[in-house]
Amino acid sequence: MNLDEALSNMRRSFEAGRLAHAYVAAGSVHGDGREFTEKALQLLFCSSESGACGTCKSCRDVLGHKHPDVLWIEPQKKSRVISIEQIRVLQQRIFQTAFEGEWKSGVLVGADRLGVGASNAFLKTLEEPAGRSIFFLLTDSLQSLLPTVLSRCQVVRLSGTQDGLPDVWRKGLLEILTDGAGAADLEDGTESRAGSVADGYARSDRLGRLLKEVKKAAEAKEMEIAEASGLIEDEDTLKARIDSCYREVRTGLMRVLMHWYRDMLLLVCGGQKDLLFHQVYLDVLRRKARGMTCRTALRNVEITENMNRQLEENVSEEAVFCFGFSRLP
Ligand SMILES: [Zn+2]
Repeated sequence: MNLDEALSNMRRSFEAGRLAHAYVAAGSVHGDGREFTEKALQLLFCSSESGACGTCKSCRDVLGHKHPDVLWIEPQKKSRVISIEQIRVLQQRIFQTAFEGEWKSGVLVGADRLGVGASNAFLKTLEEPAGRSIFFLLTDSLQSLLPTVLSRCQVVRLSGTQDGLPDVWRKGLLEILTDGAGAADLEDGTESRAGSVADGYARSDRLGRLLKEVKKAAEAKEMEIAEASGLIEDEDTLKARIDSCYREVRTGLMRVLMHWYRDMLLLVCGGQKDLLFHQVYLDVLRRKARGMTCRTALRNVEITENMNRQLEENVSEEAVFCFGFSRLP
């Protein structure tokens, strides 16, 4: 379900006084999963009548991760796990005060990184929920959560975005792939150009610029959180967070790219239209796939998969994109 649906469900449960004690937000940890959690928390803590107004002090504190009644926990930077000590701190914070009438909340960012000990400790919290306490477990890897934990949470699958990618970035990439042609605006009769070195450079350059913007946005978001939370973090931690945020978006973009060429393969091989990832671009895809052989279409898919693999292996982005795009139509 998409973010808006998930949030209106939350609002209904909240207004009916039927919130679960724990939610798993399955989606992008830095994208829709985080946004869902922040907005859900604003519902609980907002001081205006509308709920989640977004402008009152409580709402702003929630967004800045500095609300005194919300504790955000992330995997430790060295071990990359959420430790049992972190869970203990969470339990203390919540249980000491959860009977005072106000909501208390704990957010586990990357809940799939709970170690076994920490999972078991946390399980106790879930089994004996205290007062008005509510937990949010954020994960992009639902299958990695312990079934015992999962069975005590309400799972919110934020699958509206197949790739957990904010729309602005997806559109940016699709513009490059469609040569700027919008979904509806099709120039019939335009020949699909074969990849050339110059074309490869041009598209690689545009993608490079898009990724620079992604990086800037990641920096701004992480800095804002660091400043708002008042947590003084060392530069390495901040850099690591920015990097992980950036990489998540880049991975999402690569998925969009792979889906684009898979769609073309599907069309070339006469597959069903409703199986396309990018259905709204059907006309552009058709035009691009015109005259293409199955073999070429398959090769294109392989090229995108290789590009993705090379990025994961830390080959320079510029080299990957230049070489990849010069071979892609
Ligand atoms: Zn508010």
